[in-house]
Amino acid sequence: MISKKIKEHVLGSSLIRAMFEEGKKMTELYGADDVHDFSLGNPNTPPPPVVNEIVGDILKNEKPTYVHGYMNNAGHESVRAAIAASANKRFGTNFGQNNILMTVGAAGGLNVILKTLLDPEDEVVVFAPFFGEYRAYTGNYGGNLVVVSANTETFQPNLKEFEEKLTAKTKAVIVNSPNNPTGVIYSESTIKDMAQVLGRAQEKFGTSIYLIADEPYRELVYDGDFVPYLPNYYKNTIVGYSYSKSLSLPGERIGYLVIPSEVDDYEDVLNGAIVSNRISGFVNAPSLQQLLVAKCLDVEIDVSGYNKNREALYQGLSEAGYECVKPQGAFYLFVKSPIENDVKFCEMAKKYHILIVPGAAFTCPGYVRIAYCVAYETIIAALPKFKKLIDETRQKQ
Ligand code: PLP
Repeated sequence: MISKKIKEHVLGSSLIRAMFEEGKKMTELYGADDVHDFSLGNPNTPPPPVVNEIVGDILKNEKPTYVHGYMNNAGHESVRAAIAASANKRFGTNFGQNNILMTVGAAGGLNVILKTLLDPEDEVVVFAPFFGEYRAYTGNYGGNLVVVSANTETFQPNLKEFEEKLTAKTKAVIVNSPNNPTGVIYSESTIKDMAQVLGRAQEKFGTSIYLIADEPYRELVYDGDFVPYLPNYYKNTIVGYSYSKSLSLPGERIGYLVIPSEVDDYEDVLNGAIVSNRISGFVNAPSLQQLLVAKCLDVEIDVSGYNKNREALYQGLSEAGYECVKPQGAFYLFVKSPIENDVKFCEMAKKYHILIVPGAAFTCPGYVRIAYCVAYETIIAALPKFKKLIDETRQKQ
């Protein structure tokens, strides 16, 4: 008999993963060209070519015991120092190696920091729509997720409701920008206002509220848009970064946490996070991948392929009559479901071999997410089918 908690997770298992599995089955049945799988944020862009060269160089030139051995649970010192220096250059910060902790992707980093911060019944605030795994990650440590409802006009956070939902039990707030599933970047004025709200709440309750910036999509930005670096706006910010999307390395499981020296109880938070990384069973982030990313800090990220997809999909769907906010970053389009029931709409889409994810998976029913990190041809082939799909919903009304 497995644990009740895990049993619940198995039963409510990720809608997105279920879709992904269904996509694989459909591909076997109908062939890849006739299946339009927009379900998972799995980058189709290959890693920059230099990645393979760097891995080869590391394996050839570095001492095997250094590349493959155990290390400090926070990660290689040289890697952490290089990442700190790179952040300082980009964001005008003053980090050193003791502000960086290498993690097993963003998911590993989020779990490590939540494990470090949360006591049972502590509250973690998130803004709908949000990456559904936040609910599981918070629950892993007995925390309660508090959801601020979506502002479906702009998908910027609803700060009035946010302020109302902060309590003496609020330990952390998770912000994800550029956002999965909307592709929206939280504006600088939003971030400034959010910092003020948090400052007021800390004073009112006499507590520390940590803002966790979940940033796997920081590099995937279009039209030169600006993504505010949250530690520069609010002192108690911890950043979670990942190379899964920027370098297209999601299977390699590599990222890091930034824990600035200015955060309340810095020494405790840092040491707690290092221990959490160890006792979660990660021990340390994958060594070869750490050495790799430290050498990729100046690699330019080419978003032109995703941008081409974004333009084609946004234009094609708008012309077909779908409503959506044009994404500024990441590789997702969040579209208003033409019928109220988004789950039913995703079911209807399957008839056209289109796989998309209901907004319910992001606590925002009435919408659907289309991940456009796919081949351009997949989008072009799917557009006429999206048109037929919306026409079908109109006939039924
Ligand atoms: N956070 C968000 C918002 C994501 O979309 C994802 C993955 O899709 C993750 C975290 C997890 O990323 P990683 O592969 O780095 O663990």
